[in-house]
Amino acid sequence: MAATNCSNGSAEEKVKIIIVGAGFAGFACAIESKLKGHDVILLEKFPKLKILGDIISFGANAGRIFERWGWHDRFWPICTHLKTFHLHTWKGDLISAQPLEEIRFGAHQYNGHRGELHEILIDHAQNTLGAGVVVNGERLSADVVVGADGVRSKAREKVLGYFDKPRPSGYAVYRAWFTAKGSGIEEDPMSNYLVEDGDAFYGWIGKDVHFLCSSSKGGRDVSWVITHKDEADIEESWSFPGKMEDVLKIVEDWDPRCAAILSKAPSCVDWKLVYRDPLLTWLSRKARIALIGDAAHPFLPTSAQGASQAIEDGVTIAVNLKLAGKKNAQLALRAFEKMRYPRVRKTQITGETNRDKWHNADEDKVKKDPESVKLFNEEWIMGHNAETYAFEHYAEVAKDIQENGYKLPDLEDDDKAKERVMEAREEYLARAI
Ligand SMILES: Cc1cc2nc3c(=O)[nH]c(=O)nc-3n(C[C@H](O)[C@H](O)[C@H](O)COP(=O)(O)OP(=O)(O)OC[C@H]3O[C@@H](n4cnc5c(N)ncnc54)[C@H](O)[C@@H]3O)c2cc1C
Repeated sequence: MAATNCSNGSAEEKVKIIIVGAGFAGFACAIESKLKGHDVILLEKFPKLKILGDIISFGANAGRIFERWGWHDRFWPICTHLKTFHLHTWKGDLISAQPLEEIRFGAHQYNGHRGELHEILIDHAQNTLGAGVVVNGERLSADVVVGADGVRSKAREKVLGYFDKPRPSGYAVYRAWFTAKGSGIEEDPMSNYLVEDGDAFYGWIGKDVHFLCSSSKGGRDVSWVITHKDEADIEESWSFPGKMEDVLKIVEDWDPRCAAILSKAPSCVDWKLVYRDPLLTWLSRKARIALIGDAAHPFLPTSAQGASQAIEDGVTIAVNLKLAGKKNAQLALRAFEKMRYPRVRKTQITGETNRDKWHNADEDKVKKDPESVKLFNEEWIMGHNAETYAFEHYAEVAKDIQENGYKLPDLEDDDKAKERVMEAREEYLARAI
């Protein structure tokens, strides 16, 4: 396992944090913690970066954090720059041509290749945060541990004391990212509009399926995702090589432009989507370990907020620990959960509502009311400033916990989750860590 020591000097009252997992959540927590003067060790299972994944979106709520860190000039040139989203019915009738703004609520939105954007974070960690060391079998200790180890989190089981079993979502996504040149996309009039005038973004919606495709880097690269029904009963979110004949079968009666674009990909992955109910808590019983990012709350891709919320988590922990100090580190984590849990849950639900509004759209109604299927850009999500929010609200939230005691997150109104979570409650309350 590789570790990056992000120590920032020698003040005695520094909070020492171990962060497990160097995805976007772990990096955000490490970078913001370093900025806030904490002592950080960031642990990652993979010693070397592989450029993995395909398109990932960061809303303006994450964008304003990247901008504050001074990263805009590094991110922007490799991002996708979309001007209009052309959305069609499955038959090919245009529903809307939605203008897209690159700046929302005062901050940029960043869409690009996950691996390429992640590489910038890794480079930053290696050049700025400190030297890497290898820890194998060595016991490390800290004031708090942050479990940022992704959707298949081991930290989650340690925190909860039970395995949080995922449920199949009933959907999977075929996804591809490839170079336009040589793929045939430029030559085919059924697909060339995607790459001939900078970056373009097109979508088609039908019963239980939506297909989105875009070009990137001025039309040099193309990516697509097609979400469809899938009954596979798998244990975890996982990706397999996809078969192009299965992909094309989904759109066999659709607007022929869909097959024309899909068939140009040299290969694709079959990414199974599983659900997780909200967890009973993101904190260990004694609030020494906190889960963040996908380890705490995996998102469906249709929210386009998984990575942005992971980043907000990391920033909130760093601010709370700064305000609480070493002696109150547990209080800082409890306040983190209280501040973040309802916001994350509300954002998570948008993944279901967005998908359902596309998958169940009535053709005549959406043609009359294209607003009903437009990409959402709500201020409560995109306008949020996680750093300012934590600075402004920590004192009142901490006071409430001190005066009224810590309470597990309230799931009373969340019928889907309540039953399973309540079963686990007693076991969790008996835990010692
Ligand atoms: C390989 C990969 C490809 C992805 N591709 C896409 C994509 O194309 N589009 C998209 O929207 N989202 C993608 N995601 C998901 C997206 O990156 C996350 O939803 C989001 O960024 C939340 O980030 P996270 O840091 O919480 O989790 P992750 O990004 O999953 O990061 C978790 C990190 O923890 C590390 N880790 C796991 N276990 C341990 C351990 N025991 N010890 C130390 N380190 C550990 C992992 O190696 C990983 O680096 C991908 C995730 C992964 C891991």
